[in-house]
Amino acid sequence: FAALQRDDPEIATVLLDELARQQETLQLVASESFASPAVLAALGSTLANKYAEGYPGNRYYGGCAQVDRAEQLAIERAMELFGAQHANVQPHSGASANLAAYAALAEPGDPVLALGLPHGGHLTHGSRANFSGKWFHPIAYRVDPDTEEIDYDEVRDLALAHRPKLIICGSASYPRLIDFALFREIADEVGAYLMVDAAHVIGLVAGRAVPSPVPHADVVTCTTHKALRGPRGGMILCREELAQRVDKAVFPFAQGGPMMHTVAAKAVALREAAMPSFRRYAQQTVRNARALAAGLTAEGMRPVTGGTDTHLALLDLRDLGVRGTEAEARCARARIALNKNAIPYDPEKPAVASGVRVGTPSVTSQGMGEDEMRRIAGLIGAAVRSDPATAGGASRLDEVGTEVSELVRRFPVYAQQEVMA
Ligand code: PLP
Repeated sequence: FAALQRDDPEIATVLLDELARQQETLQLVASESFASPAVLAALGSTLANKYAEGYPGNRYYGGCAQVDRAEQLAIERAMELFGAQHANVQPHSGASANLAAYAALAEPGDPVLALGLPHGGHLTHGSRANFSGKWFHPIAYRVDPDTEEIDYDEVRDLALAHRPKLIICGSASYPRLIDFALFREIADEVGAYLMVDAAHVIGLVAGRAVPSPVPHADVVTCTTHKALRGPRGGMILCREELAQRVDKAVFPFAQGGPMMHTVAAKAVALREAAMPSFRRYAQQTVRNARALAAGLTAEGMRPVTGGTDTHLALLDLRDLGVRGTEAEARCARARIALNKNAIPYDPEKPAVASGVRVGTPSVTSQGMGEDEMRRIAGLIGAAVRSDPATAGGASRLDEVGTEVSELVRRFPVYAQQEVMA
């Protein structure tokens, strides 16, 4: 960091300001957590200089002995942690992992059955704006309008009617456990591959806080930077007989050279995720999400599906008469980072939304527990109800911001010297 301060003070200042933001505001974005200083150290290393197209022992470049060791460790640690027969740790992101999984399992034009975007599916699950909706034939299943849980009967009916090549489950905002065994059954009934996009829950799976999709899926894709607390990146786990197809779909089909500094950082994170302390973190993350959802219910926000089994809750704000965009902006002013989010059957446009999504991986990494979640629920409630256009509302948001600062100061994330050495 000293070199950066000397050679590029402008960017050094950006890094310092971002560290301050992470230290001084409350992080409730469900897709984020805090990578350890060891993970960050691997990212900022000389492995970033190395080209290594190919796989360990079979590269298109010389000088790969060291990076081969890093990638082999990442692969072995992933297989061991998740009980997977094969792991590919090269995808640059969750979206790249999904592109490769489609390429491994389906052909352009094939029908693909996945949760619709308005119901919690990801862009890569068939959105018209994405390769998945442009190059494949997307069919969307939904959640039940009453229970707001996945309508498995509809999944089966659509599968029987359309005979998809690929069935996808996994979500960015679904707070409940997904019945992977039932998805497997449906996929088998129609001869489809089952892909689980576990981007959001893979950290909880690693910490044994939720059931694993690995025994049920043909392919599991994920990110490594959410609750798993690794570097920004993706990963694919699969059965042995699909290993070659998956590897070829990542490189050379979807990507060029892997980011070896990121691969090394994934190895570090996977080692950390196998430790007892990570299990405690994952399990506390779920307990915290439940406590936060209950606290927010008391503040007049309705948790979609009535609660959560995971690290996140999706809150319907309509009873408060506040839209997602307004709630997000009010919370930001009160030093609380969360995001607006569509709720199932949302009457608002996605860019406005009737809900917000909150997640607990970051605050749990900081050491907060259920008492803090109850307090945070009160702070969110106060912020969401405060209209900054009114004099009273604006000053209330400032007061909440001060209370948030006091709270996060008690749970410091990162010692400055550890991450800015
Ligand atoms: N799949 C799901 C379910 C996600 O939530 C996300 C990202 O939020 C992705 C895939 C894509 O990951 P990335 O942003 O790394 O491309």
